[in-house]
Amino acid sequence: MGKIYLEHMGGSRVFSCARCDTNLTNRSELISTRFTGATGRAFLFNKVVNLTYSENQDRVMLTGRHMVRDVSCKACNTKLGWMYEFATEDNQRYKEGRVILERALVTESDGIEERVYNTDNRR
Ligand SMILES: [Zn+2]
Repeated sequence: MGKIYLEHMGGSRVFSCARCDTNLTNRSELISTRFTGATGRAFLFNKVVNLTYSENQDRVMLTGRHMVRDVSCKACNTKLGWMYEFATEDNQRYKEGRVILERALVTESDGIEERVYNTDNRR
């Protein structure tokens, strides 16, 4: 088994894997909260790190036909959502390369920066 190299996105509000707490993305990468996944509410992100991707799959959704890849946590292998590889409808193209994470499978918490109490930086 090789070593798994994990990245950290930083940011003041971070999203992590609910199972193993691996950092995935942060609030500034969040595009939309109005998506629906297998477990309910799902979020669309611009960039997510520490994922593994499945093979391309052809999937017909309410918004048309898409090529997607399932995404899983790199550290614990839990399936977290999917990535849009290609959208056939022009008005869905903004989703290409973007990642859906299911709300129930991730946790949102304060980033490290906000937790540190620094007297030199008091506002
Ligand atoms: Zn995980």
